[in-house]
Amino acid sequence: MARTHIHGFPRIGAHRELKFAQESFWRGESDDAALRGVAQALRARHWEQQRAAGLDFVTVGDFAYYDQMLSLTALLGALPERFAFEPASLSLAQYYELARGNTAQPAMEMTKWFDTNYHYLVPELGPQTTFNGGVNWFFEEIDEALALNLPVKPVLIGPITYLWLSKSHVTGFDRLSLLPKLVIRYLRILDELKQRGIEWMQLDEPALCLDLEGEWLEAFSAVYEVLGASGVKVLLATYFGTAADHAPRVATLPVHGVHIDLVRAPEQLEAWHEALPADRVLSAGVIDGRNIWRADLGEIVDSLQRLHAQRGDKLWVAPSCSLLHVPVTLDLEKRLDTDLKSWLAFASEKLDELGAIALALHDPAAAEPQLAAADKALDARRSSSAVMNVLVQRKVATITDEMANRKSQFADRSRVQRHSLKLPLLPTTTIGSFPQTPGIRKARAAYRRGELRALDYLERMRAETASVLRKQEELGLDVLVHGEVERNDMVEFFAERLWGYAFTECGWVQNYGAQCVKPPILYGDIYRPEPMMVDAACHAQSLTDRLVKGVLTGPVTMLEWSFVRDDQPRSITALQLALVIREEVVDLEKAGIRIIQIDEPAFREGLPLRRIDWPAYLEWATRTFRISAGGVSDATQIHTHMCYSEFNDILPAIAALDADVITIETSRSSMELLAGFGAFAYPNGIGPGVYDTHSPRVPSVEAMQRLLERACEVIPAERLWVNPDCGLKTRSWPETEAALTNMVLAARTLRQRLEAERTNAEFAVHAG
Ligand code: GLN
Ligand code: ZN
Repeated sequence: MARTHIHGFPRIGAHRELKFAQESFWRGESDDAALRGVAQALRARHWEQQRAAGLDFVTVGDFAYYDQMLSLTALLGALPERFAFEPASLSLAQYYELARGNTAQPAMEMTKWFDTNYHYLVPELGPQTTFNGGVNWFFEEIDEALALNLPVKPVLIGPITYLWLSKSHVTGFDRLSLLPKLVIRYLRILDELKQRGIEWMQLDEPALCLDLEGEWLEAFSAVYEVLGASGVKVLLATYFGTAADHAPRVATLPVHGVHIDLVRAPEQLEAWHEALPADRVLSAGVIDGRNIWRADLGEIVDSLQRLHAQRGDKLWVAPSCSLLHVPVTLDLEKRLDTDLKSWLAFASEKLDELGAIALALHDPAAAEPQLAAADKALDARRSSSAVMNVLVQRKVATITDEMANRKSQFADRSRVQRHSLKLPLLPTTTIGSFPQTPGIRKARAAYRRGELRALDYLERMRAETASVLRKQEELGLDVLVHGEVERNDMVEFFAERLWGYAFTECGWVQNYGAQCVKPPILYGDIYRPEPMMVDAACHAQSLTDRLVKGVLTGPVTMLEWSFVRDDQPRSITALQLALVIREEVVDLEKAGIRIIQIDEPAFREGLPLRRIDWPAYLEWATRTFRISAGGVSDATQIHTHMCYSEFNDILPAIAALDADVITIETSRSSMELLAGFGAFAYPNGIGPGVYDTHSPRVPSVEAMQRLLERACEVIPAERLWVNPDCGLKTRSWPETEAALTNMVLAARTLRQRLEAERTNAEFAVHAG
């Protein structure tokens, strides 16, 4: 009979228990023992759920007090030297200092885990790095599970992916040179598992789904040649894409099983089935670990039938990847529409789906009720009138190429805009949000609970906007914003005003550390019944003589930060989003808003893992943005905003968005990005962020002036804007006012100097 397992369960807990325990520990309100107690209870609960669902294995090692890469670093003992911690006796408090920084050292770098919205801590390796062992938490967890008599399958990230994702600040240092030492550590780990009687170990190598260079593949073979012979059976797990090109190579290695992601890359099944001898395990990732839709059990069972007949218990059934990326349980959702709820499966429900598939392969009659229930839900979803909106479909059908273009080229538009907007050289602005004060949060919570009337809430928000505008005038900013005071979240705010979106009460997913997000569910055709922010923008504009920039979330970001329907291509859903944003942008223009910013911080997030797939994505994502921006006249200035990603390798696509101005995060990389924009000769306006809004530090006038002078060297001053890196909603008012005062001063100083130089030059021309 096929066996069932998962790669990992959401560690945060259905009620975000881990988050609250972490935060209480950080505030000093609870001790080590309390935090460990919460963690142990969560693990025990999640293992019990796997056992109760009848899975053949219980996965251990997916837990982490902050992040799985950091925990692996702690297990290996490869701590960044700058912290000077003793690896073997690392305390929980020190572990958190690595993650969050301390008074002497900034935190380890954090970055996105492949193409997910989860962030991991980047190992910092160098020539001195050793892997002589660190904390024993991993083994303690295994012993905990063994003591409960559970069928334990430990999991760790594999050495190739670990090294691939790590960084070194020593120039010329090749991190692959650490591999021999690293492999010895893994061997020791496997040996300890063998002594505990562990049969199978899962090693995650999602790096195999990237474009790996030749030497990395050679290294991969060498490593698994050794690890495969340790005496513990190795399940090599790949996910997030296809690894089919490596099937012949893997077949020659002594690994005992391979997991493949058949949700993202179903086409790879044949290649693996063919390459992998029948005595090896093939783990089929058939349940979507990245999305929340109920699986088509019947179809999955059909697709596995032949494989099962040939491989029997060497066929394993699993989710495509760790369930870390979906919420814990539907049980807590009391307000979700009952039809919609019946179409969903969160982590807990996915465990049951696995059981049903294994049963159906073995004994179809016994699994009949479960398969029938899945069929019924799927049929209901397919024919639901809530999903289909003819008005939307009619509009999408009439999209023309013309709609993706502004009326004139940038050069002509910018001339029109210069005349009508009359902005100074180096105009100053902000990215949109201002500090979300406790007062704002309280009012919003009271309004949500029904304790504050709609009108009272509106008045509070308007008063807040008025005060934010006054402050911006006092600071001397040139282009103002309304401050996003009423926005809880930049995606949720708009999603709540659109048809086709639903919201959970407890659908939390770990984003990083204790930080969780609750992505809205995009289940149906997207329709805008009425304007979403025109009223707020107009109210703001009525309060000031200066220009107010309208700020809204772009279609690609709306898509990336939601759980998106899987019954049509993402590019089609993106078009629907583009149309509603376009309608809003046009309405803002009609209402007299002359500068409109369409935020796309997640533009790069949708980029496929393999370069060969990039052009197709960039093509539709660019078109999506252009449609959202293309409905306005030349005189209306369109801005976009992007942050916290590497952008240098997609500059042509960013230019192809054809926004009049892009404000973009650059300060942390000391404007490295800007050098890229210079070399590529970015054609339109650009506001390189002159200070990091994610740090409480107040930047000096001189520092920002230096950055601006460097910017002037690569971008003509006529096209430069002055702004922070990102929104200010997480900052306090005193920091914000101090930083913006300095920013405005830096811009003015440089502006005066440039203007003086110009007057002198003109004078020289006339005099000569
Ligand atoms: N306009 C948003 C803000 O200022 C942009 C946030 C973002 O880039 N993530 O908060
Ligand atoms: Zn940003």
